[in-house]
Amino acid sequence: MPSTLILHPERDKSLLRRHPWIFASAIKSQKGRARLGDTVDILNHEGKWLARGAWSPHSQIQARVWTFKEDEVIDNAFFLRRIQSAWEGRQELIARQGLTGCRVVAAESDGLPGVTIDKYADLLVCQLLSAGAEKHRDKILWALDKLFPECAIYERSDVAVRQKEGLELLVQMHKGKLPEEVIIEENGVKILVNPAQGHKTGFYLDQRDNRAVAARYAKDRRVLNCFSYTGTFGSYALAGGARHVTNLDVSDSALTLARRNLQINQLDESRSDFINADVFDALRKYHQDGQQFDQIILDPPKFVESKANLTRACRGYKDINLYAMQILSPGGILCTFSCSGLMPTELFHKVVADAALDAGRDVQFLERLSQAPDHPVASSYPEGYYLKGLVCRVL
Ligand code: SAH
Repeated sequence: MPSTLILHPERDKSLLRRHPWIFASAIKSQKGRARLGDTVDILNHEGKWLARGAWSPHSQIQARVWTFKEDEVIDNAFFLRRIQSAWEGRQELIARQGLTGCRVVAAESDGLPGVTIDKYADLLVCQLLSAGAEKHRDKILWALDKLFPECAIYERSDVAVRQKEGLELLVQMHKGKLPEEVIIEENGVKILVNPAQGHKTGFYLDQRDNRAVAARYAKDRRVLNCFSYTGTFGSYALAGGARHVTNLDVSDSALTLARRNLQINQLDESRSDFINADVFDALRKYHQDGQQFDQIILDPPKFVESKANLTRACRGYKDINLYAMQILSPGGILCTFSCSGLMPTELFHKVVADAALDAGRDVQFLERLSQAPDHPVASSYPEGYYLKGLVCRVL
């Protein structure tokens, strides 16, 4: 008999709306014993079956739903179905943009809480971040092998959120040999990915369409690519006819890859700089020195780690946007982003508007941007929407 969670009255509402998380405070009682990651049935206070999920006693989110169908079993075939459906859903996009790098499974939004799978050419990189995903690792790997027999499989479960689930951080190669580097291609631009050392699973696939948008504005402009990582916004900008691109990051290894990314695309290195500097300091220094740019990209790391630091994070976002606006030439373009899921879109827009006020510049929002379509948001899971951006004209 599977263990059963019984919810408090009125606490079944989010499940009835098919939201996949059950918080500790919603659970009235538990019948039967379950271990970390075990499959449990979730019932309302009158005993009506609602969902089946994975038990995660150490987390605030004590269960994550695998299925809302009572007769659906969590076995090999379940993972095969879910991953196959996610992969099929991306085929149109892959064909349209000539992608060889793509997110195959976007966790909750693809019906697999805690499971992220990215594909870089013939390498799959997975992150298993929930107790349930951990429990079913073998089934997930089996399904991946069935669907992608040609691919090597690497796991980068070295993300701190695993600790909240009571799991250790781990990195392991499951199948084939780990390549030191993989080259992927999107929108005609080649990109080097280092799966072992790179951020997340190696690369920021989510910014793909926004790189293309930013490049549309780049022609003849002097571009400052802040938080450049491996410089892909810069490669796109040069390919789009930018006069010059300055890449700024605090990571030498990222900047080295940024330079090599230009080389493999046969882009003119003499039109680029690669500077190891803190963006906050560098922007202030450019302002003091009276140096201007015609386009600035601000794609910082996640500033909002928890609701408690939202106010502080807003100050960070405001500062970089303010400093950037101060050094844009008249009519300059600011492409500014927040990848913090906890930052509400409207608040992000307000922070940028406040920066404009303080910078004393008239600013227009030209385009509102979000994450690429291989990072979909399930309609029942608004938390899946995390990346927001604005293209602004600074007058
Ligand atoms: N724009 C990139 C992704 C940026 S990730 C892309 O499209 O691929 C964030 C980057 O910011 C990381 O490379 C990190 O090294 C860098 N970073 C973090 N804090 C920084 C700071 N204060 N100054 C400069 N770079 C910083």
